Amino acid sequence: MKCVTILGSTGSVGVNTLDVIARHRGELRAVALTAHSNDACLFEQCREHRPELAVLIDPVAADRLRERVRTAGLAIRVLQGTAALEEAAQLPHSDIIMAAIVGAAGLLPTLAAARSGKRLLLANKEALVMAGELLIEAVRASGATLIPIDSEHNAIFQCLGTSSMAGARPQGLRRIVLTASGGPFLHTPAEKLARVTPAEACAHPNWVMGRKISVDSATLMNKGLELIEACWLFGVAPDDVEIVVHPQSVVHSMVEYVDGSVLAQLGNPDMRTPIAHALAWPERRESGVESLDVVRRARLTFEAPDLERFPCLGLAQRAARAGGTAPALLNAANEVAVQAFLESRLNFTAIPVVIEGVLNRVASEPVRSLKTILDADSAARRAAAEAIGCLQVSTSDSVVGARA
Ligand code: NAD
Ligand code: MG
Repeated sequence: MKCVTILGSTGSVGVNTLDVIARHRGELRAVALTAHSNDACLFEQCREHRPELAVLIDPVAADRLRERVRTAGLAIRVLQGTAALEEAAQLPHSDIIMAAIVGAAGLLPTLAAARSGKRLLLANKEALVMAGELLIEAVRASGATLIPIDSEHNAIFQCLGTSSMAGARPQGLRRIVLTASGGPFLHTPAEKLARVTPAEACAHPNWVMGRKISVDSATLMNKGLELIEACWLFGVAPDDVEIVVHPQSVVHSMVEYVDGSVLAQLGNPDMRTPIAHALAWPERRESGVESLDVVRRARLTFEAPDLERFPCLGLAQRAARAGGTAPALLNAANEVAVQAFLESRLNFTAIPVVIEGVLNRVASEPVRSLKTILDADSAARRAAAEAIGCLQVSTSDSVVGARA
């Protein structure tokens, strides 16, 4: 029996993880579940999976959960606040930690999980983008096993057939080909992009995901974050990673070796595949994912990304090459801009404008400690909020102005 902690259990990745666990009750057990404030969903998960520990960030929601757990007669400890997340991440008898919190909020608990020396399933790509060096160091020092959950990186991990995940460049590797669906606006003309709505941006053609990553997929920032993620995970340079648009999302990524062999991992776009792979590794477990119908999916296409319509990808490449705190600045500015877009305070096309402004204004520094990263994160958030405030005033400008 393997005990699993899920950080972010009420999200898209968290729910898919519980779906896989429920298929293997004799072998896998959820022992700790955490979420931000959705006590109704967390209570249902507690009722079904009977973890020992449940954590909510919001204290009012935690009080409600405590009351529901007590009324239902469940023996579950309910904790609240961010410190409790780290406690969940380091639960002594947990064997596997799924890091599936969205955004920078996942950094400290993911780092705590990396220090625990256990198996760390990493979905929270923002933690690696912000603090790749520290996270990889923590994995190496503790002897943890890091397995990527992002479908592309999990595909690369499978193609490499390696167990050494912690940032060492695999022998014989020539390059990585990272595939991108292109998102919902792949064919939207540039002049229409300024007016797209949050609902349109979140309607991904192939994947059902949380709102933040859905917007990142629509701007192609998601692929930019994944480029930085790949550099840390596989010990490669940004120029070793080619990004190609593959709208069918069947080839999840490819690896090319120096002898010209190219290995790809294919499958239906369903996160339960990488999740089941990482939970079972080095074995295999049923995930509930349908077989790939290669005849029906006969046409697989690949094209170069359009950096003019999707400038976020170029900004991420710039931050990846700059290194230091530049990726943390990029990530923080993106989080603030995406939130403003989701709240209809910012146009879709203003997202890269805000991020570029932050990268130009806030200097990148070498990473000396966690504090350097957290300071960069705060400075970028302040600069992005200011930039959004200025853009909102200039409503006459149809491209960068706030949405009505
Ligand atoms: P989501 O928004 O659906 O869920 C996020 C989870 O994090 C929820 O459980 C929420 O309660 C929790 N959370 C949010 N803010 C928090 C905070 N401040 N403190 C503590 N917990 C908080 O997100 P998702 O789509 O499941 O994505 C999770 C992570 O996985 C992201 O980093 C995303 O980039 C990555 N990822 C997701 C997918 C996917 O298919 N959804 C694929 C690849 C990678
Ligand atoms: Mg991905």
